Amino acid sequence: MIYLDNNATTRIDTEVLEAMLPYLEEDYGNASSIQHKMGRKTHLAVEESRATIAKYLKVDPKEIYFTSGSTEAITTVIQGIYDRYRSKGNHIITCATEHKAVLANCEAVEKKGAKITYIPVNQEGELDLEALEKAINKETILVCLMSANNETGILHPIRDIAILCQEKGVLFFCDATQSIGKHSIDLASLPIDLLCFSAHKFHGPKGIGVLYVRRKSRPIQIEPLIIGGKQENGLRGGTYNTASIVGAAKAITCISDDTQEKVQKLRDYFEQRILNSIEDCSILSYRAERLNNTSNIFFKYVSSAELMVSLPDVACSSGSACMTATHAPSSVLKAMHLSVEEGRCCVRFSFSKYNSKEEVDMLIPQIENAVCQIRASSPIWKMYKEGLIH
Ligand code: PLP
Repeated sequence: MIYLDNNATTRIDTEVLEAMLPYLEEDYGNASSIQHKMGRKTHLAVEESRATIAKYLKVDPKEIYFTSGSTEAITTVIQGIYDRYRSKGNHIITCATEHKAVLANCEAVEKKGAKITYIPVNQEGELDLEALEKAINKETILVCLMSANNETGILHPIRDIAILCQEKGVLFFCDATQSIGKHSIDLASLPIDLLCFSAHKFHGPKGIGVLYVRRKSRPIQIEPLIIGGKQENGLRGGTYNTASIVGAAKAITCISDDTQEKVQKLRDYFEQRILNSIEDCSILSYRAERLNNTSNIFFKYVSSAELMVSLPDVACSSGSACMTATHAPSSVLKAMHLSVEEGRCCVRFSFSKYNSKEEVDMLIPQIENAVCQIRASSPIWKMYKEGLIH
């Protein structure tokens, strides 16, 4: 199997797994049971992990909260901010190309009375910053925009957005799920108020995530989503998932700029080979600033479903993993002005440090053959080649 679905999830690093194992076997004490030695040991492991993550982001450990992943963090922020700030204003700004977790939560608060503005993007998926500036009004309580798109890899101008929100006095929440581990971030110099990510996107374990909440002179108020025990300063009840927390921190320490460079070279090599060997295909957001590992390719008149069936030993994706079950056309591609039909002809290949040039060399002829075969039996492709349609 050639695994090129790293934006969906990644293989766990061996060092990460090794760091976690003791907390699943002998060191299983509850991290809140600090009355005894076993609890104190795991409590220390949780706090050391928090400090490691805070150091990576250049923030205070008190600003780091553990969650089960980005979906929970996104739900906590959108619902929890709306519930606390609705008397101040009821307007939230986001973008149609955000992850389903953001869109679904915006729809949920809309039912409670929130007004949601979706900032448009152009054909490359680039955000209209002027439209964002115009959309902010005195009712706006939250701007919610991702750093990198999971389907195309396009990077939003996070610095400009953060500065704009700071100037306008509006909270800015950044879903950094796809960029952590692939694109550096420095929260000491970026005025982002809230940020989240999931460890499984950068070779950590699944089911663990981080929510960063900036400590301000006037604290950011969030109504907790999960209530129960007073863990995480009352923001998130429930017994600490010590092994996964330790794993998330270990995965952060394994991030390196060198491997990112290697991933980018491999992705670029793959794209050049695809463009040179297959006619009528193009790369989405090619001219925009993109993540170094992502390649979403449009193969004219080749259905992504058919292509993926023809590549049984390749793990790639036609859209976001969480939407695969619905068979709905991608809302991201729709927002980028692709027709439903065009959207159905796009396949995402996402690389990681575990991929190799040998894999790409094996893969290119497989894709080439599959595309040729699908087109050879396609009446639409024939009509296109005869100049009857575009
Ligand atoms: N946000 C983005 C941009 C994502 O890519 C994902 C996962 O694919 C999520 C949020 C949700 O992450 P999780 O499924 O780990 O909760």
